[in-house]
Amino acid sequence: MSAIGSAIEKGLVGGRLWLYSNYNCNLACTYCLTESSPAAAKRHLDRSLISKIAAGAVAEGFTSFGVTGGEPFMRPDMVEILLELQAHLPVLVLSNATLFTGRVLEDVRRLAGTRVAIQISLDSATPQENDEMRAPDNFAKVVEAIPKLVAEGIAVRIATTGGNRTPEEDAALCELHRSFGISDDDHIVRPIIHRGRAASNELGVVATAHDLPAELTVTVDGAFWTPFGPTVRDGRLDTDLLLARTTYPLDVPIAAMLEIAGAKPAGGDSLLNIR
Ligand code: SF4
Repeated sequence: MSAIGSAIEKGLVGGRLWLYSNYNCNLACTYCLTESSPAAAKRHLDRSLISKIAAGAVAEGFTSFGVTGGEPFMRPDMVEILLELQAHLPVLVLSNATLFTGRVLEDVRRLAGTRVAIQISLDSATPQENDEMRAPDNFAKVVEAIPKLVAEGIAVRIATTGGNRTPEEDAALCELHRSFGISDDDHIVRPIIHRGRAASNELGVVATAHDLPAELTVTVDGAFWTPFGPTVRDGRLDTDLLLARTTYPLDVPIAAMLEIAGAKPAGGDSLLNIR
């Protein structure tokens, strides 16, 4: 077994390998870690690098892929990328679900019955709080998109960020996702992390490497300790959680990660429930 495979088995690091597909987004949320927006540079992760990583990840011992950004579905080749990745390992792709109309929806239909699940952001059971943080009409677009995807047979999860809800508001949110046929196991709730635009807006909890999930994360700028690592503030990439500028061959960032993981107690990421 590979060294990273063994570390994954022992719980020293997570089995999901993350890919930052791009940094641009059609939204500009108040707590966005990457300062993504329609005006942000795309910074696409090279398609041939994605293919090479996809081909090597199983042998290394990774157990799944994560794809995030930016909004991954801003990339016209995203569905092709996801289909390629899922041929190797199950895939979780994070999305704001606001682009799933017309041609994009037609394309996304190809994910039905595959090993790709889409994790969609929805922060409250009513429009106000969600739309204040995300965008006008965001709630309406998301609650329209989710049932369409579920009806197509696409696996959907819901991610709720932030924690200013009352118990009643939490219960209403759970009722809403259950009404879409999405189980409690497929609803995650996590705090806003005080990085990126959230830090500029004085939002969220301060988290260190020990608080954040140890999951190798490949971006156009290098490899990071966690998907919460390659954040952008005032236009500059944060490098405090950078493992290596070299992303391929994977041995280079893996060696850097294992060196740190050897000294890291297992399960530290459970402290702030950041997953
Ligand atoms: S939080 Fe997600 S949806 Fe919002 S601007 Fe950032 S990448 Fe886009």
